[in-house]
Amino acid sequence: MRVRVAVPVPARQLFTYLVPAQLREEIEPGKRVEVPFGPRILTGLVLEPSSEKVERRLKYVRRCLDYEPVLSPSLLKLGQWISRYYLSPPGETFKAMLPSGLLAASENKVALTAQGILVTKDLEEKEKDLGEGILRFLYPSRQVRVSSLKKRFDFPAFNSVLAELESKGLVNLLPSVSTLMGAKLHRTVCLPGFLQLGRGDLTFKALVEVFEERAPAQARCLKLLHQRGRLKLGELLKLAATDRETINRLVRQRLVEIESTEVIRDPLESYEAYPLKAIELNSEQKSALAEVKSSLRQGQSRTFLLFGVTGSGKTQIYIDAVKLCLKLRKSSLILIPEISLTPQTVGRFKAEFGERVGVWHSRLSSGERYDTWRRARDGEPDVVVGVRSAIFSPLPNLGLVVIDEEHDSSYKQESPNPKYNAREVALMRAKLEKAVTILGSATPSFESYQNALAGKYALLRLSFRVEARPLPKVKIVDMVTSPREPGTLLGRELFAKIKKALSSSRQVILLHNRRGFSPTAKCQDCGFVWRCPNCDISLTYHRQDLKLLCHYCDFRLPAPQVCDNCGGTKIFYRGYGTQRIEGEIKRFFPESKLVRMDFDATRRKGAHQSILEEFRSGRANLLLGTQMVSKGLDFPEVVLVGVLSADLSLDFPDFRAGERTFQLLTQVSGRCGRGHLPGEVVVQTYHPDNAAVVASVSQDFESFFSQEVATRRKLFYPPFSHLILVRFSGKQENELKEGAEVFHRRLNQELSESAERVRILGPVSSLIPRLRGEYRHQILIKVKRILPMIEVLDQLLESESIRKLRRRVKVSIDVDPQEVF
Ligand code: ADP
Ligand code: ZN
Repeated sequence: MRVRVAVPVPARQLFTYLVPAQLREEIEPGKRVEVPFGPRILTGLVLEPSSEKVERRLKYVRRCLDYEPVLSPSLLKLGQWISRYYLSPPGETFKAMLPSGLLAASENKVALTAQGILVTKDLEEKEKDLGEGILRFLYPSRQVRVSSLKKRFDFPAFNSVLAELESKGLVNLLPSVSTLMGAKLHRTVCLPGFLQLGRGDLTFKALVEVFEERAPAQARCLKLLHQRGRLKLGELLKLAATDRETINRLVRQRLVEIESTEVIRDPLESYEAYPLKAIELNSEQKSALAEVKSSLRQGQSRTFLLFGVTGSGKTQIYIDAVKLCLKLRKSSLILIPEISLTPQTVGRFKAEFGERVGVWHSRLSSGERYDTWRRARDGEPDVVVGVRSAIFSPLPNLGLVVIDEEHDSSYKQESPNPKYNAREVALMRAKLEKAVTILGSATPSFESYQNALAGKYALLRLSFRVEARPLPKVKIVDMVTSPREPGTLLGRELFAKIKKALSSSRQVILLHNRRGFSPTAKCQDCGFVWRCPNCDISLTYHRQDLKLLCHYCDFRLPAPQVCDNCGGTKIFYRGYGTQRIEGEIKRFFPESKLVRMDFDATRRKGAHQSILEEFRSGRANLLLGTQMVSKGLDFPEVVLVGVLSADLSLDFPDFRAGERTFQLLTQVSGRCGRGHLPGEVVVQTYHPDNAAVVASVSQDFESFFSQEVATRRKLFYPPFSHLILVRFSGKQENELKEGAEVFHRRLNQELSESAERVRILGPVSSLIPRLRGEYRHQILIKVKRILPMIEVLDQLLESESIRKLRRRVKVSIDVDPQEVF
């Protein structure tokens, strides 16, 4: 019997192993196995039985690690689909689908066996070969990591020599279990029945007397347990002032018993349940929900695009749909872009469904992840609320997947592999498991909206805010003609409105989508601009830590006093980041209580929550931040939103710049006027006539879409084509250039016969030509039908010439990229 195994290495293929007779019953698809891989032992995932005839000598599976499969048949299929669609190595793909540690490429250690020790003892002083060198190095009882051993004995034959030593039984490869996640245990200690209080007092006394002389620490433990009954292990050790070995001795003599119970680490404990209020759905909500419910009842795998303006009550529809799922004994999966920014959403689900909710986000500890994952697999929480990777949550019997703010680019994983979009993965998973999908947004992605227009998704509209609250009034301020406070980014108009809002004890949100103090540091005498030595990008001045910082690789430099180029001392900082705006606001509005929310202010765990809590409680009345402040916040006292410069996203050299700007402006506008007070928005820009800016005034998605889409059609961009970005990177620029050209030529050869509609841009140097010390070139492919193109690329990657190329140049492929520069 043979099986095909996905091994967590960058290889594009599966590996075939023999199954020893004693494991035949145990091994099945979806279980993890330990397999030899070169000189290492790795944990792999069994995908399927194999019947292919191979010439090579196959190795045996060493061990099966699971009683039950870690992935269900449909999740296995999903993984294979992802691996294929995103051209991502299967091992890396499945590794991403499991909590960290379950499929780790764990570090093995090597040690001598007893026989190895005997052999090495008798070796002559002088080493004859590599094998002897390794044995001697390990003698007598060292355990060395394979990687360190390899570093020390860096010979081409290393792998085969080590394998030979193992097959001769001289060394042992020890899989390191430490990286395998375990359940957290809660240990308590007690006396065995025959020694417990009331019974066997005499025996106990006699025993303690013996121990007091010979082993006082053990005696202390026994006495403590006799007095107090059951104790936590840690507590007992502390009280008896001793260590674990004492207890181990007692256990071996059967004088104490240790009991382990599992503690479940519950990340939800830190979320406050949002107070429940009885809500009567309005007629739009009712008819949308009715459609969803009917599909849920019929168990149809149908996709809905819930297109509802900000504050139209989309979340309430999700909640009611989940309720029906629970009644039907099905589980639900709710994806949101970023949990730390929207604790309210989690809170609302928790209020409704209590213990039945599990959360999943990037700041969970690995233990919390493992527990949540395992409980989800057992169907214990049957509602999981989480970020992108929650789409892999092993919920059995899935009925509903919700992707809230489906347009959000955080659903796309940029790296590492697989570079998947959780929205697409969700649709495939829902198809495999016959679940209903709801894509919700006030600003749908063009791709989804086009699919709705084409009838692939059912469109559900919510065109009004709940309780007929008005959408905020948006005012565009032309920065060219409008007066500004001298030397600042703050226009007079916005200034006056902030003043008014603060003086009437309301709250204000200000958006400025650039962090740091100032994006360029420049010498006034010679014009020298400080740039990152690793990336081709100017360094941002951070006044808080008096440093220049690279926003791409985190390179840091103390803020200079003199110019590196001419020795001049007049260094000035051009442009505005949030830190600079913060200073200006504090200067102009001494009465304001400002909190800043951006990447720098939220590095600490829990920082998001505490900033938002300051604002929610009213201790702060002004929230300033990057796009973080545009997402999902629901604060009823906010009456004003100010966008200091819409141009930051508009001027981005990307074909989606307009779409992104419209989304950002609409979303951030949606943060005000959510309570009973009407809201107002001020948008400052140098491009008051830009279509995205104009459309955001009326939040008129349809008219913006129909304008913008005309350009997309003409230029053959999504939603009329699929994009594939092939990126080449490496330290040697000429080698890289050449590599990109070879790839380009080969691609053209492959395509010459196909009738597909394809356009290829490049190879060109990327917009950021050097990043983290590596040069970057790229090819952008636009294609009508994606699957045949993936086929072509797959073949290409397999071809000898491209394999050779990849030994010198990194080639990475991003299917349906969100960013193309
Ligand atoms: P969205 O997700 O569309 O931005 P939410 O679902 O967050 O909107 O709803 C905004 C607010 O309105 C929430 O506080 C919610 O409890 C409330 N709400 C939702 N539906 C109704 C309704 N039919 N009547 C009154 N309030 C509602
Ligand atoms: Zn850098």
